[in-house]
Amino acid sequence: MATVAGVELSGKVVIRNIGLMLSGDIDRPILDADTLVVQDGVITQIGRAADCDIEQPRRLIDVKGTAIAPGLIDSHVHPVFGDWTPRQNQLGWIESCLHGGVTTMISAGEVHLPGRPKDIVGVKALAITAQRAFDGMRAAGVGGGAKVLAGAPVIEQGMVEQDFAEMAAAGVRLLGEIGLGSVKAGYEARTMVDWARKHGIQSTIHTGGPSIPGSGLIDEHVVLEADADVIGHVNGGHTSLSYKAVCTLCEKSSRALEIVHNGNERIAILTARHAIELKCPHRVILGTDSPAGSGVQPLGILRMIALLSSLADIPAEIVIGFATGNTARMRALPQGLIEVGRPADFVFMDRAQHSAGKDLLESIRLGDIPGVGMVMIDGLVRCQRSRNTPPAHEVPVIVT
Ligand SMILES: [Zn+2]
Repeated sequence: MATVAGVELSGKVVIRNIGLMLSGDIDRPILDADTLVVQDGVITQIGRAADCDIEQPRRLIDVKGTAIAPGLIDSHVHPVFGDWTPRQNQLGWIESCLHGGVTTMISAGEVHLPGRPKDIVGVKALAITAQRAFDGMRAAGVGGGAKVLAGAPVIEQGMVEQDFAEMAAAGVRLLGEIGLGSVKAGYEARTMVDWARKHGIQSTIHTGGPSIPGSGLIDEHVVLEADADVIGHVNGGHTSLSYKAVCTLCEKSSRALEIVHNGNERIAILTARHAIELKCPHRVILGTDSPAGSGVQPLGILRMIALLSSLADIPAEIVIGFATGNTARMRALPQGLIEVGRPADFVFMDRAQHSAGKDLLESIRLGDIPGVGMVMIDGLVRCQRSRNTPPAHEVPVIVT
């Protein structure tokens, strides 16, 4: 991934005494390793301490036997500008989510901007400005340094292929939720999804009933015809299609199944189970769909992990993979997996104090939210003991 100008480099970082290393890859969720070496924000070694070059780090972290996982990815947010949301008029929501272990957020459209332009020149200008602004925000440390991938235009009738080519050339890589603008018919959406895909822009479609007054229903027929890369909030945002309709989407499409916090929880659990039964768990990715009418949930992704593990009966290390490696692969991101050559974006966790679970994975399986002890982005420590999660039993220590 292109480094963002102005963000300092981590130098050499050694992370040792890791009790549990979760890869983010649901095919191989637990790695047999206790040490990570990072060079300028990139993972260079994973293994046992004796086999790694751990000499003379700029930063040495003793994890104290706790767990490390890829930083969580929220596949569905609605940022506007800066670390502010007009939806609930809240400041600091992105940094607050960082304290919930989220290191990357993906915009599904900057739809809450007051006076959001709907003419085509305005739609393109907003997308390009948002993409630039959120990239620049990281360098300024706004939002705690979280990676906010934004600049996701809501497509409108009258757009032509040249519009997609121009946006792509300017750095736009995402479409906002299809269905929130004037393009609502499957055939119209399909044409634009194809143009977007041809120019390297990923697409997401709204699924289910209207989210706010003025928006509309997008049913399973429209979702299948549009064939966007991500079936956005397959469990509704908030109102879900019927379980039968959601099963049709699972069975007839091969696209990502995005389950969100601000959706129907019953359908969230059933969808995750159905994906496991259909042997397509790799398609399941997680988001919050916040800020929204339900508010902002700094622990939204951790809550989804605990919900799906405990009530859909899925091992915690697999559900953590839904929120990390699955999203990385479905969305072609470099981060989200602990592998050599990937960005050093990590969340350090332990079971919450006094959880009934004897270790991190069991505590999640029992429905408890884990405690976050540290968050690292590109090898830089962005927060230590979380101010939002219940306190972790043990937390990592910065030795040097
Ligand atoms: Zn939506």
